[in-house]
Amino acid sequence: MTTYSAPLRDISFVLHELLDIGQFSHIAPFKAATPTVVEAILKAAARLCEQVLLPINRSGDEEGCRLENGVVRTPSGFREAYQTFAEGGWTSLACDPAFGGQGLPEVVNLAVAEMACSSNLAFYTYPALSHAAYNLIGTHGSDEVKRAFLPRLVDGRWSATMCLTEPHCGTDLGLIRTKAQPESEVGYKLSGTKIFVTGGDHDLTENIVHLVLARLPQAPPGTTGLSLFLVPKYLVNSNGSLGPRNGVSCGSIEKKMGINASATCVMNFDGATGYLIGKKGRGLHCMLSMMDIARLTVGLQGLGLAETAYQRARAYARERLQGRAITGAQCPDRQADPIIVHADVRRMLLTMKAYNEGARALAYWVALHVDLSRQHPDPEARQEAEDLVQLMTPVVKSFFTDYGFEATNLGLQIFGGHGYIREHGMEQLVRDARVGQLYEGTNGIQALDLVRRKIVKKSGRLLRRFFDPIDRFINEQKNYSRMREFTLPLAQAFAKLQQVTAWVVEQGAKDPQQAAAAASDYLRLFALVALGSTWAKIAKVSYAALDNAGEKRFYEGKIITARFYMRRLLPQTSSLVRAIRSGSRPIMELDAEAF
Ligand SMILES: Cc1cc2nc3c(=O)[nH]c(=O)nc-3n(C[C@H](O)[C@H](O)[C@H](O)COP(=O)(O)OP(=O)(O)OC[C@H]3O[C@@H](n4cnc5c(N)ncnc54)[C@H](O)[C@@H]3O)c2cc1C
Repeated sequence: MTTYSAPLRDISFVLHELLDIGQFSHIAPFKAATPTVVEAILKAAARLCEQVLLPINRSGDEEGCRLENGVVRTPSGFREAYQTFAEGGWTSLACDPAFGGQGLPEVVNLAVAEMACSSNLAFYTYPALSHAAYNLIGTHGSDEVKRAFLPRLVDGRWSATMCLTEPHCGTDLGLIRTKAQPESEVGYKLSGTKIFVTGGDHDLTENIVHLVLARLPQAPPGTTGLSLFLVPKYLVNSNGSLGPRNGVSCGSIEKKMGINASATCVMNFDGATGYLIGKKGRGLHCMLSMMDIARLTVGLQGLGLAETAYQRARAYARERLQGRAITGAQCPDRQADPIIVHADVRRMLLTMKAYNEGARALAYWVALHVDLSRQHPDPEARQEAEDLVQLMTPVVKSFFTDYGFEATNLGLQIFGGHGYIREHGMEQLVRDARVGQLYEGTNGIQALDLVRRKIVKKSGRLLRRFFDPIDRFINEQKNYSRMREFTLPLAQAFAKLQQVTAWVVEQGAKDPQQAAAAASDYLRLFALVALGSTWAKIAKVSYAALDNAGEKRFYEGKIITARFYMRRLLPQTSSLVRAIRSGSRPIMELDAEAF
């Protein structure tokens, strides 16, 4: 039962009814993104995901990638699927027309990304990294480098990687040893080994562009000594044609828990020619601009897999007959009732549904601010949007991948033992979901980024961009009686978040261990409140649409799910607050030897 049907109605609800992207039609990428155009794009993307990517998801997992004579071969069907993907213009959707892109909003691109992650996450890792690299080169590359590399990344003929991790260094990038030696004629020569490089080598594209963090001679130790280099697999001639093979090769591919069709490579750089991107010593800064969009996409991976898990579990719960409803048979003409009658199964389904639909709305809202941060004509509005994106990126990356793993496990649980065996594809979803919590910076590190940097940055300015609109919304809605069941719990949870934020900032200033010990719980609390405000807005929009639309059931479903979120999921905030306020002592007092 490897099914998936793109949730187009829900995506359209978020884009047009909740976010009303039409209100930005005066801003460049939204001019062309009329509702008709967006609907046509999403429908075409849904067809591609359901008919091309989904059918090779399971076989890709089983076959995996293999290294043959120094070249990585992707599983059967991946090359053809990638060709269809690139020729269909899916790599160029949100790229600059100056480099052959379609100039559409990033928020539309991310909606497509969600569907692609739902249908075949391993496949999508390849174009996702290319898009992140496109953003990095577009922001920090010289005009010459942009001219040489962007058009081919945009049309999908070339792909890209990010090369940070080394055997002795993952989180602590200051330990990077890969060296870059200046060479007057060619730029730089890079030597060293990178591990865990996604798409480090494969047979999908003509060329692969590696973005590599390395150290120049005499560079200071730590991250300030890192510079960023572009190292192509094949050198590029001045007329754009491919030149000789560069000194970079795949040493081996990792055998791993999930996303088996995504090649995770050990990459050896043996005097490989590289070109400096950005300023010397600013490598990490440049790389971070690639990782921000990559981190949002990783968050979408959690959502994408959770959506597939939900759809399959929902179908199974309607069909599987076991036991009788506790209040009496619901289907007396059948041997037993479908398991969807049981409260515990409904609890699991609703948890998935509430997280998925809330997360979709929250993620697209952040993606919309990516567009506004780049294209809004008013510099203040651009800055405001940029602040929000910076603040929300670790939250989306971390919470969405945590719940993605939680939700795929719930989906598996609904299948009972049939979820644990391979037949239904549920165990693959769980395995594929797990990596999101690890790569692009582990979730623990994202939480530290939130508490140690983002909430205190610019004297709390980033935080106010998020807090102020929630405050306004609660005040605006407080007199609407039917909204009270949503705004009251939201207001309570929001107040707790504000108080705990002040506590974390104050305690963290005195003793950083307090902030570090609070970090993961704080991020979850933050995310739950963000989803709470999202669900309250969904309830508001749904109430307004309820009477005049022919889709009463759709909007009622939203209101009931919002109620479930407020009553059954948002209350987790209380225990998180208590855990955070217990401080660092319960965590730190046990001697390392006593573990
Ligand atoms: C499938 C896959 C694909 C990947 N793709 C890429 C890629 O394309 N490019 C690339 O460069 N890398 C890639 N990675 C590497 C990935 O980004 C790293 O695995 C990740 O950053 C963590 O590094 P590490 O594995 O060395 O763990 P470590 O850094 O050793 O961390 C181990 C544990 O300690 C915790 N920890 C470490 N330091 C701290 C701290 N200061 N405070 C609190 N906790 C801490 C971590 O959160 C983690 O739980 C990939 C990894 C995988 C598994």
